Amino acid sequence: MRRPHPIERLARVQAERAAAGTLRRVRAVQAAEGAWLQIDGRRLLGFASNDYLGLAQHPRLREALWRAASRWGVGATAAHLLGGHRGEHEALEQDLARWTGRDRALLFSTGYMANIGVLAALLDEGDSAVQDKLNHASLIDGARLAGACLRRYVHGDVDSARRQLAADPSKAAVLSTDGVFSMDGDIAPLGALARLCREEGAVLHVDDAHGLGVVGPEGAGCVAQAGLSAGDVPVLMGTLGKALGVAGAFVAGDATMIDGLVQRARSYVYTTAMPPALAAAARVAVEIARFESWRRERLAHLVAHFRHGAAARGLELVPSTTPIQPVLAGSAETAVALSRGLLELGFYVPAIRPPTVPSGKSRLRVTFSVHHGEADVEALLDAISHVRQRLS
Ligand SMILES: *Cc1c(COP(=O)(O)O)cnc(C)c1O
Repeated sequence: MRRPHPIERLARVQAERAAAGTLRRVRAVQAAEGAWLQIDGRRLLGFASNDYLGLAQHPRLREALWRAASRWGVGATAAHLLGGHRGEHEALEQDLARWTGRDRALLFSTGYMANIGVLAALLDEGDSAVQDKLNHASLIDGARLAGACLRRYVHGDVDSARRQLAADPSKAAVLSTDGVFSMDGDIAPLGALARLCREEGAVLHVDDAHGLGVVGPEGAGCVAQAGLSAGDVPVLMGTLGKALGVAGAFVAGDATMIDGLVQRARSYVYTTAMPPALAAAARVAVEIARFESWRRERLAHLVAHFRHGAAARGLELVPSTTPIQPVLAGSAETAVALSRGLLELGFYVPAIRPPTVPSGKSRLRVTFSVHHGEADVEALLDAISHVRQRLS
């Protein structure tokens, strides 16, 4: 018998997806400025970016990047432990620790790598990885990489989380949750989860990729908003590629935890440090995110305006107070048709389908940034209503 060929198998999956109309496609963006994109030669108003605070193209970040590149060059040249850890990295780690109110912070090259590194370092084979059903893929993958027993609880449901933790009280347990959920925009019940973890002797790990910079005092995130200490949330992960407009990620906590990650997190040890110029740009982003609170106020205003207008037009939203404001469409076909219709009208709003979201919960994932104005929000709402009517 001939053994199965992995690449032929890939091709088969590809053909199946193409037939079902669910193929994912990469589109090259030819130009981007503020909320505007150019794709296939067409200028589109984008509602898809995670650059909530509008920092990705900020002149002060560009300047910091350029200056640091002039001093250090481009690449870090090695892993952190082997001479790649430059002064810029060290200073950024200190800034991030101060911002999040933690003793220490440790940089990773991406949020995906931070989560798999943390979970594989903290959990041994057979331990309990207790996770919200809607957690980001990197948290799920981290639990799998660790060989832990993955126990998923009903989204946002603390009683369900308690049952999953109680399932095996003899094993070490890490409860991981998104702070702001990436496809829904709602915030995890962190206070109640922290109490639960304390009672059950579990470690709480919060992934605040979408909360950092956007939520809480000085934008310090969901954990700061909930007033939780490093004792309550020993593992706080944040990313630098979303609201901070750069790239990379970090884990913050007490010295024992961070020192342990330096020894054991393989996605920290066995990879090249992020370019030092990015660290320099991220330091400026942190400063702007902390102290220019008008950016958060503007986002809150746009979100309120959008939700009010969506309710008036009978659009189905989810209970989110953050700049992630999904519009539920039901079937994957409807979501795709809405997204295509919006594209024809000059709006870039991606459809999110299974397996990224549960079946029947396909949606347009609308996100706002400080680049948008009230008129943009109105134009989007009118366009969604228009396309919806045309489809029905
Ligand atoms: C984007 C995201 C990540 C991954 O971060 P990257 O830096 O893009 O790898 C992890 N967790 C959540 C919740 C995210 O939304």
